[in-house]
Amino acid sequence: MDSEQLREYGHRMVDFIADYYKTIETFPVLSQVQPGYLHNLLPDSAPDQPETVEQVLDDVKTKILPGITHWQSPTFFAYYPSNSSVAGFLGEMLSAGLGIVGFSWVTSPAATELEMIVLDWLAKLLNLPEQFLSKGNGGGVIQGSASEAILVVMIGARDKVLRRVGKNALGKLVVYSSDQTHSALQKACQIAGIHPENCRVLKADSSTNYSLRPDLLQEAVSKDLEAGLIPFFLCGNVGTTSSTAVDPLAALGKIAESNGIWFHVDAAYAGSACICPEYRKYIDGVETADSFNMNAHKWFLTNFDCSLLWVKDQYALTEALSTNPEFLKNKASQANLVVDYKDWQVPLGRRFRSLKLWMVLRLYGAETLKSYIRNHIKLAKDLEQLVSQDPNFEVVTPRIFSLVCFRIVPVDNDEKKCNNINRNLLDAVNSSGKLFLSHTALSGNIVLRCAIGAPLTEEKHVKEAWKVIQEEASYLLRK
Ligand code: PLP
Repeated sequence: MDSEQLREYGHRMVDFIADYYKTIETFPVLSQVQPGYLHNLLPDSAPDQPETVEQVLDDVKTKILPGITHWQSPTFFAYYPSNSSVAGFLGEMLSAGLGIVGFSWVTSPAATELEMIVLDWLAKLLNLPEQFLSKGNGGGVIQGSASEAILVVMIGARDKVLRRVGKNALGKLVVYSSDQTHSALQKACQIAGIHPENCRVLKADSSTNYSLRPDLLQEAVSKDLEAGLIPFFLCGNVGTTSSTAVDPLAALGKIAESNGIWFHVDAAYAGSACICPEYRKYIDGVETADSFNMNAHKWFLTNFDCSLLWVKDQYALTEALSTNPEFLKNKASQANLVVDYKDWQVPLGRRFRSLKLWMVLRLYGAETLKSYIRNHIKLAKDLEQLVSQDPNFEVVTPRIFSLVCFRIVPVDNDEKKCNNINRNLLDAVNSSGKLFLSHTALSGNIVLRCAIGAPLTEEKHVKEAWKVIQEEASYLLRK
């Protein structure tokens, strides 16, 4: 590592990235390249001799950027946002610069301790129950993704129940969720060895914005108990991916508690909003949960990846996931004086991710973060109103946070035709390059999703996007 070279190239790279952000609106939001495009542009093998930074940056401009879908564009409204920010970027830079691998406390004590502190800070901002704080048996940990968070708690819950009932009972373990739960849960079941027939995917209630009905859960649990099965894991949602549905946590938690079921709450997207007192009510009942996750990398100005997980019982994770080979033994770990996050996750190695979250919390402060969330929700509210005023469209589910679900209304009750026209609208809008929306299906109907949450999005971007949608729609409807 040549420090002076780092200084020179680093400045150049920062300039390049700053210019990218300055001109981000000139790019088509959704990349318009065809599959395999890059193979035709790059050599078949790595260079034998060093090339210059200029050569590489030229290739980035001409060959890589066309293949980028611009997630940070102010008119990126697809999926859920993946925020970046100056603070998040500085934290990423510092983490890359320090270059540590903090799997055990001893490998960089600050990495473990800062992570514990920052997760406690955020738990307090969310007003999570005390049991999720690091001072007792609980605590928080940063995972790479919500999928990893769900996987590790499922494995922890699985091993906890199997210690009680015996390892041979794996085939009897049952998982519960609504049909709106993210596919991350299905993946976790596949990896954790849960029998596919023991995954109860309960039909969500379309009359309550697709939330899970506690009576259906109770019914399913009772049926499984009667059949000699072992209910062990429930995943509740705060902000489902399709429509931001919020499950009734308190009622679900009560059922879980009385049946010895591990209750996990997935608030990957909407958790961020719950730092605002007026949205905190959406996680009321979280005190009944065993674990809770939210992605700071979605809507909390923290560059990808930074998925936050809190558990009440850290030993459920460590008993399932810890290993202690000779080559990792050290005094602090052996004396049980420290947290070794390697035992709370799947991989061994881990990045110093808490730095960027710490930077975000310190450089912006909680009040700025709350305003940030409120602004997006206001923009979504405005869009919801615009959609509801247009007779060609309908708002499909009531907006709760900053996602607006809408579609062109069916003509002559022809749902099939309606689905086709909405698909065509999505294609037309996205191939315009002016904005990027994604879609979902609710009760069999194709629905367009406009998730407002990119850091650069302003009122004008939402208004312009809606104009493009309306124009494309009237063209399609005329056809
Ligand atoms: N849960 C919800 C509600 C989500 O919306 C998503 C992704 O959008 C996930 C889980 C999966 O997130 P990740 O990509 O962090 O695994």
